[in-house]
Amino acid sequence: MISYREALESVLAAAKTLPAESVPLARALGRTLARDVKAREDIPPFTKATMDGYAVRAADTAPAGPGGHGPVELEVVADLPAGQVPRKPIGPGQAVRIMTGAPLPAGADAVVMVEDTGSHDRAVTILSRVRPGDNIGLAGEDLKKGEKAVERGALIGPAEIGMLAASGLALVPATRRPNVAVIPTGDEIVEPGQPKRRGQIRNSNGPALTAMAAQAGAETIYLGIARDKSASLAARLARAKGADVLVLSGGVSVGDYDLVKAGLETAGVRPVFWQVRIKPGKPVFFGVRGRQLVFGLPGNPTSSMVTFHLFVRPALDRLLGRAAIGMASATAVLDEAIAIKPGRTQFLRGRLVGRGPTLRVVPYGDQQSGILRSMVQGRVLIVVQAEVGRIEAGSEVEIMFMDGT
Ligand code: AMP
Ligand code: MG
Repeated sequence: MISYREALESVLAAAKTLPAESVPLARALGRTLARDVKAREDIPPFTKATMDGYAVRAADTAPAGPGGHGPVELEVVADLPAGQVPRKPIGPGQAVRIMTGAPLPAGADAVVMVEDTGSHDRAVTILSRVRPGDNIGLAGEDLKKGEKAVERGALIGPAEIGMLAASGLALVPATRRPNVAVIPTGDEIVEPGQPKRRGQIRNSNGPALTAMAAQAGAETIYLGIARDKSASLAARLARAKGADVLVLSGGVSVGDYDLVKAGLETAGVRPVFWQVRIKPGKPVFFGVRGRQLVFGLPGNPTSSMVTFHLFVRPALDRLLGRAAIGMASATAVLDEAIAIKPGRTQFLRGRLVGRGPTLRVVPYGDQQSGILRSMVQGRVLIVVQAEVGRIEAGSEVEIMFMDGT
């Protein structure tokens, strides 16, 4: 049986970043930037007022400062709202009435806030001195022309959208979203909303795994439940041909009705690995069919979701060309001792507790792989290396964040 690291590496080796496409800025939220975007001009493009007031030569206001002889009167030569350009430079003893966002006239090097002035018809009284650079924003102070605005591989969120807009992009180069087909398997599972007989359970993996794929940035295609019969599985596998990624749940263990592995191989999937030294999720299968990545996840609800986080999510990140691959991790202090049987790398569902300066985590009480509640209550995975059997309270542990980016 291979280790988690080895298994993950073989998944990433098989996942190639998808090509870029052009997406309107308004639809780019949640997409991944396919190339570096550089500022095409300075941002802001000109030096401007950051306060409403009077553009001045700072030196002219010196007498209004400490040790000076008091307020200074300047001649107001123009009125400059945002969006207008100054017509001529200001000279000594002159000022321009200016609004926030308007370009600073040549000759001026500061703005006096309107609160620090008294106004008359064609003159202004400056009540307090300013220094060069006060209340102005310099051209290029946010980004200089040619500087990187947003990096390739960035997940495009609201801040990135703002920066791309500031850079003048109406169309954003984004990697194509991978198509993920989802097929839950099992004779006993029934879709929510359908009548259920004794011995049957609800299909929770189908909806949960489809949601995980969508949250990871994929287009999802739900193909419905395959029964534990070769023909039923074969029909769905045929419909999944065009997908970039195929995710199945159930039927990958060693039971009499675990037909998924054989069914996948018959459909032309080349196995890469089956069974990994992890808990939960040991029976996980990975194979490839041409460029298609095929994941056979175990049927237990928690196992299927954890193995999605561990293997499918990093594969999707790579297909999307994301700079960050897989779950974010951190170090936390364990609040309760952990005692487990060593042998496999364990991913315990944990809850973050407390509000102090350090992250503190407790393992969720019931770690059985059928307990979906642990996924609802637990937001992190506590990683316990294969050789470790006990970790004392107060120790530092590695955690991985299951939600978010
Ligand atoms: P399997 O991997 O097919 O042996 O399934 C392991 C356990 O997970 C069994 O108890 C199944 O009933 C359960 N299971 C399988 N598929 C699903 C599903 N789609 N939703 C909820 N539970 C499932
Ligand atoms: Mg089954």
